[in-house]
Amino acid sequence: YVAKQSRTGVHVYESADDEDTPRRLALLTDLRSAVESGAVRVAYQPKVDPVTGRVLGAEALARWTRPDGPVRPDEFIPLAERSGLITPLTEHILDTALAGCASWRRAGHDLSVAVNLSPQMLTGQTGVREMVERALRRHGVPAEALTLEITEGGLIADPVNGVRVLHALRGLGVRLSIDDFGTGHSSLSRLTDLPVQELKIDRSFVRDITQHRTRQTVTMAARQLGHALGLHVVAEGAETQEEFDYLRDLGCDSIQGYFVARPLDPADFLTWLAEDAAYGLAPAHPHAG
Ligand code: C2E
Ligand code: MG
Ligand code: MG
Ligand code: MG
Repeated sequence: YVAKQSRTGVHVYESADDEDTPRRLALLTDLRSAVESGAVRVAYQPKVDPVTGRVLGAEALARWTRPDGPVRPDEFIPLAERSGLITPLTEHILDTALAGCASWRRAGHDLSVAVNLSPQMLTGQTGVREMVERALRRHGVPAEALTLEITEGGLIADPVNGVRVLHALRGLGVRLSIDDFGTGHSSLSRLTDLPVQELKIDRSFVRDITQHRTRQTVTMAARQLGHALGLHVVAEGAETQEEFDYLRDLGCDSIQGYFVARPLDPADFLTWLAEDAAYGLAPAHPHAG
């Protein structure tokens, strides 16, 4: 068993990744049918410009609920990644997110949508470029309205193919974002070679930033590096007004976090756009994440 730190900071004990526990096998069976039947849903979490309050877009986050309750992405995404389900799951999320983005745009909201890509999608074997191209065409969304978020770690596993696939995706005109920046131990020199447009500073540096001098230093340095490379810099995980203000004053170009809104069901996201977002920076929502 390995100790893992959960988002709440509480240590939970989980079985090691390669262990086929009965729960894991049951989850896998259920996940396979959920992916096949389209039962994995998408929640949208807005990214806003902290200076103007304008909503720039939203990140699509996978959501899966079993009869006994929701399963966290931190549990089912790794399972999908290890079982070959990540390709059909990604295709479903991409398709749903672009359908959503097309509908926001038809309603007059000039928004982009972001979809997460697992490292396994960047091996050159998954046809991800064709998948993205097909989905963009199907929904009539301009390529520049789609951002693909890739974790630093994803590029370390297979840098040669990873970079090649990123260039192929960039060739479509989509935006590429380095997710969870600061956690992946990739060399800074490598970062300059990547065809990316956005850098997302990891939540671990943002949490309680107003109390932590080192997190302030790291976030400032990441923001400066991002801007020096001409990237759009996003901070994720702002939970309070103080954190939001701090990140705005630090010069982050956009902010995503519970303070702005939790990840929302598609219908709640539209309501939020029409109501709260119109007032600028809405306080945290009571909707479940
Ligand atoms: P991520 O891509 O870094 O997504 C941001 C995560 O931070 C989301 O967790 C979001 O709910 C959470 N978050 C945002 N603001 C706050 C905040 O203010 N406070 C706190 N405590 N959390 C905040 P979520 O939805 O549980 O997703 C976890 C991870 O699972 C994602 O991290 C991403 O790596 C992965 N994931 C989710 N959906 C997908 C997907 O469709 N495909 C792939 N490949 N990975 C996904
Ligand atoms: Mg992400
Ligand atoms: Mg992230
Ligand atoms: Mg993160």
